Amino acid sequence: MNIDSICVQGGYTPGNGEPRQVPIVQSTTFKYERSEDMGKLFDLEASGYFYTRLQNPTNDYVAAKIAQLEGGTAAMLTSSGQAANFYALFNICSCGDHIVSSSAIYGGTFNLIAVTMKRMGIDVTFVNPDATEEELNAAFRENTRAVFGETIANPALTVLDIELYAKCAHAHGVPLIVDNTFPTPVNCRPFEWGADIVTHSTTKYMDGHGAAVGGAIVDSGRFDWMAHADKYPGLCTPDESYHGVIYAERFGKEGAFITKCTTQLMRDLGSIQSPQNAFLLNLGLESLHVRVKRHCENGLAVAEFLSGHEAVEYVNYSSLPGDKYYPLARKYLPGGSCGVVSFGLKGGREAAEIFMKSLKFAAIETHVADARTCCLNPASTTHRQLTDQQLREAGVPGELIRLSCGIEDTNDLIADIAQALDKCEKR
Ligand SMILES: *Cc1c(COP(=O)(O)O)cnc(C)c1O
Repeated sequence: MNIDSICVQGGYTPGNGEPRQVPIVQSTTFKYERSEDMGKLFDLEASGYFYTRLQNPTNDYVAAKIAQLEGGTAAMLTSSGQAANFYALFNICSCGDHIVSSSAIYGGTFNLIAVTMKRMGIDVTFVNPDATEEELNAAFRENTRAVFGETIANPALTVLDIELYAKCAHAHGVPLIVDNTFPTPVNCRPFEWGADIVTHSTTKYMDGHGAAVGGAIVDSGRFDWMAHADKYPGLCTPDESYHGVIYAERFGKEGAFITKCTTQLMRDLGSIQSPQNAFLLNLGLESLHVRVKRHCENGLAVAEFLSGHEAVEYVNYSSLPGDKYYPLARKYLPGGSCGVVSFGLKGGREAAEIFMKSLKFAAIETHVADARTCCLNPASTTHRQLTDQQLREAGVPGELIRLSCGIEDTNDLIADIAQALDKCEKR
């Protein structure tokens, strides 16, 4: 199946007389005739369901679709994108370990790694998103266990050189984890460029309607844990909390990561996505390929309009010729990047306020990647915990406006932006 068909039909194939749409299995628990049947599930000797905190059929159908979309071997849903990134990292990093991460990442993820995971004894080195091979290699330590970055960073809109990051990660025997929320697999499939694990905030384009918070983790099935067994004891030595199972042995490269993440982290931390939300997510996925195309058309038209306007100081949009990331976007995002454009007005923060207030289509929201256009000044909202220096490092200077172009009519959007820019100039 091509990706457009996977969006519509992937993951769930009903049998004769079964529901056409993915059924919502609104049940916390599952019935068995004999204890030994359930015992086999607990021993991971049979697959099936016993308690929705670990697994639920609705979630599994939708996770299977996302795995197919990314070209992976296994996937799981989480309650949010935050949970997905935390689980993906914590599944292979413990106290005393170290992560190499691009500094241009989502504010919530930055905080997760820089503050919360640090408190758990996991250290991090943030590298410039444009780091050279030499600079990247210099960031690794003996105890490095993962490399992390975002295909298109939210909100900095930098484009990750996935091949380079993967090369450096693999040279040090660790996997590359890529948050692919902004391009979605419709525009980029990081596994094709060497990434090992992909994460998503499905809250964004995948749901796409501002209806359900959620996350996903996908495994490429290609990282050879056993070849680096000393680094990954959690995958390569017996799990005493699970009857001594050795995940990498029992489930192989294809299944070890997601199985461990489900049986340990989901069991103990419980950040499951509700089956209702998984159903809504699947409705979003059915039109993902159509919407993403439209978001990108609007994004490009708006970026072109802004870059030709005299009130605008600069525009960041990697699909725009002349953008610093245009060469990387040509390589990794040839079909388009996303609907999010960021820019700075000549009048600075004050002009940004007037501009945002004057927009009629765009609501001021912390959200992005929604069918409806929305906008935000990250420095005064999502990134307000960062210092000025961290803001610059994260690529979100104080005056930056992030405009998430929806799927409304292009001319309506541009007319709205034009009138708001007029108000800034007349201030
Ligand atoms: C929003 C976002 C997250 C966090 O996801 P939630 O679903 O809000 O928890 C992580 N990464 C990126 C790139 C995001 O845009």
